[in-house]
Amino acid sequence: MIPTRFLFISLCFLIFIACQKDDSANTPKSTESAKSFEAMNTFMSLKSFGTDPEKANDAVEALIANIETQISTTKEGSYIYKLNHLNEGEEKSVETPAQIANLISFSLSIAKETDGAFNPTLFPIIHLWGFTTEKYRVPSDTEIKEALTATDFNKVSLSYQNNNSAIVTMKNGMMMDMGAIGKGFAGDQAIQLLKEKEITSAIMDLGGNVQTLGCKPDGNPWKVGITNPWGDAPIGGIAICNKAVITSGGYERYFEENGKRYIHIFDSKTGKPVDNDLASVTIIAESGMYADALSTTLFVMGKEKAIDFYKKNHEKFQMILVMNDKTLVYTEGLQDILTITYPVKKKAIIKN
Ligand code: ADP
Ligand code: MG
Repeated sequence: MIPTRFLFISLCFLIFIACQKDDSANTPKSTESAKSFEAMNTFMSLKSFGTDPEKANDAVEALIANIETQISTTKEGSYIYKLNHLNEGEEKSVETPAQIANLISFSLSIAKETDGAFNPTLFPIIHLWGFTTEKYRVPSDTEIKEALTATDFNKVSLSYQNNNSAIVTMKNGMMMDMGAIGKGFAGDQAIQLLKEKEITSAIMDLGGNVQTLGCKPDGNPWKVGITNPWGDAPIGGIAICNKAVITSGGYERYFEENGKRYIHIFDSKTGKPVDNDLASVTIIAESGMYADALSTTLFVMGKEKAIDFYKKNHEKFQMILVMNDKTLVYTEGLQDILTITYPVKKKAIIKN
């Protein structure tokens, strides 16, 4: 005779299976969808998991295309283009949606906090060196001095009209550029949109800016490669969930003249391309906009100032500095999540 205890356990098991079946019938199935496209002068790709990831990815592509039409320095209809090309008396103004004003306001606050290492009004200098037209050249010191007079970010002001818009005003002759922060801003908006579209996990690569939503569908962290300035195989990988991993490197865009390399990241004090011992700076933070701004800024600051800045702000981000001599400097918070696979010369861990 079958023992009652066995019958009871079997019955419980059957009920459990039945409930499982019912559950899966009611819960929409999570699927995966990947997409790649070109926007903001770069190649972008994303992979999302959720009930309708294809629709969500399409919405992200449209969102980023729209952000580009609003903040590009080259698209004629953009708010930044309009502001840059106005020429009226002492000052010029443009009304922008609050979201764009918030981006400008954030860029100005980083500029103030970093004493201009980050400067969203460097466009006249970037233009002078030919980075906007690809007609690269080394300008004279007189030209640089002249262009620098139009790069005082304290001469930009914002006046919010209501919750929906603001008037951005700056001195005539000044020009803005969101190039060091725009992709991170777009990434943050994209993550927000994916959440609204009930995407449970996603990874995006917006031209070297990696941003993630949640962990991988199996619950493990995403593994993000750290670009190698000297070759194809990454320097290493970093295991993260819900974070942005953003790198600025001198190897990304530069020109050479008489054996000297001139990169696309500028020192706003000298008006010349940064020339220090850093090969790249990677920032790991929750916000893509913050990580993007800091990757450029800490590159401008150089190793010692970047470490000081980290010590004051260690709750907000982690960083990896790759030095030209192939040494690696990284922050304490990365110790357990960073795997180094490239034969670096030596490593140094920065404590808080
Ligand atoms: P990328 O866009 O290549 O990933 P970055 O995020 O570092 O790299 O941004 C570099 C861009 O930022 C430059 O092409 C230029 O438009 C702008 N830029 C350069 N120097 C500065 C600076 N000191 N502050 C703010 N923006 C800068
Ligand atoms: Mg940047």
